[in-house]
Amino acid sequence: MKAAILTVGTEILFGQIVNTNTVFLSRELNNLGIDVMYHYTVGDNSARLKELIVDIQKDCDLIITTGGLGPTQDDLTKETVTDVMEDKLVYHEEIWDEIVGYFNASGKRKITENNKKQAYFPSRATVLPNERGTAPGFALKNGEKIVICLPGPPGEMTDMYEKQVVKYIKDLSEGSLYYRLIRLYGLGESDLETLLMDLIDGQTDPTLATYAKEGECYLRIASKRDTEKEAEAAVDEMLEKVRAIIGPYIYSCDNEELSQVVGRLLIEKNLTISCAESCTGGLFAKTLTDIPGISEVFDRGLVTYSNAAKREELGVRSETLGKYGAVSPETAEEMAKGLHEVTGSDICIAVTGIAGPGGGTEEKPVGLVYIATYSGNGTTVKKCNFMGNRDKIRNRAMLAMFHEIHKILGDT
Ligand code: ATP
Repeated sequence: MKAAILTVGTEILFGQIVNTNTVFLSRELNNLGIDVMYHYTVGDNSARLKELIVDIQKDCDLIITTGGLGPTQDDLTKETVTDVMEDKLVYHEEIWDEIVGYFNASGKRKITENNKKQAYFPSRATVLPNERGTAPGFALKNGEKIVICLPGPPGEMTDMYEKQVVKYIKDLSEGSLYYRLIRLYGLGESDLETLLMDLIDGQTDPTLATYAKEGECYLRIASKRDTEKEAEAAVDEMLEKVRAIIGPYIYSCDNEELSQVVGRLLIEKNLTISCAESCTGGLFAKTLTDIPGISEVFDRGLVTYSNAAKREELGVRSETLGKYGAVSPETAEEMAKGLHEVTGSDICIAVTGIAGPGGGTEEKPVGLVYIATYSGNGTTVKKCNFMGNRDKIRNRAMLAMFHEIHKILGDT
């Protein structure tokens, strides 16, 4: 199937934002075996958008658009696509209820009358719910021609793509497509590609594609065969070859979050856990408690931000804090050991670091984080140097904590 990616937004033409949506979609579609023939960008202008769609459809059966699905006057994609695809917009009460639900749950903004626009969809459309925002997407067929419209914000777009568009496209294509998303920690994307170069080079089926996201790496192995069973067997055979090369870095072969894998293993192995957090301020405990059933093994999470808290709650010695500072392997180790004294948990993890933007020195720069992990085998301390802003550093520290525990829990 020949496809084009059409991004809508005057901001892109002005060079105000980087067109990451096109990069993402191109890679993903190629990975599904779809030939991406063209990339287009058009401003928020209905006439030009219409002209362009008509033109692209002379050569391509599939167009994926991003942007212009919001509630404001310059969001024109839905109306224009509906017109070109010879359909009419109809109001969906159930979608309106979902949008109202999203607004109430997020509590960020007040719903306005123009949001109602987002509950109108072409009568023949397959509506694609938006779990990350208010503007749902949709897919619309007219004879052989298909247009799939996705929201502009990359987080919303990629989530909708992974959760709904892949399935929609798979259902369209002849033959059976099967893929697995392998998740890895501790390996950069270029190292991953280098290690797998022999397998990636000259690949036709199964295909391998690598992605990097927030300190982690993904590998997608996809195969298209006559039957799903054949495709699955081909993917699994390739997975074994991949495992032989990068096995220790893999923590999930089924697109599970690292925190979910760790939570599941803790529960399965019936190992209790507690945490003491400084720079992550409770983020680890929050992420752990996102996992249903974790109360079976999670005892407590302490946010010991000040030196006093580290001393009083965890018994970190004043001499240690004075001599080495709060961000030091010595303090991290005493935090984890002290936490074990207090809780008796099988695994006690502690983190201390400099999230920035201030507070860094040459010796102890922003991004320096120590993670100490106590288990039956003693206490290990890991030194990390993370790049990025405060949010990124805290997030990466939290992920690294899960990784430390994963190493203790063994293979997935
Ligand atoms: P919203 O409901 O947020 O209005 P929308 O579907 O109408 O969503 P746009 O208003 O076109 O989307 O874009 C919203 C934001 O999404 C942009 O300001 C930009 O930050 C981001 N965005 C849009 N298109 C792209 C793109 N092609 N690549 C990367 N980011 C994009």
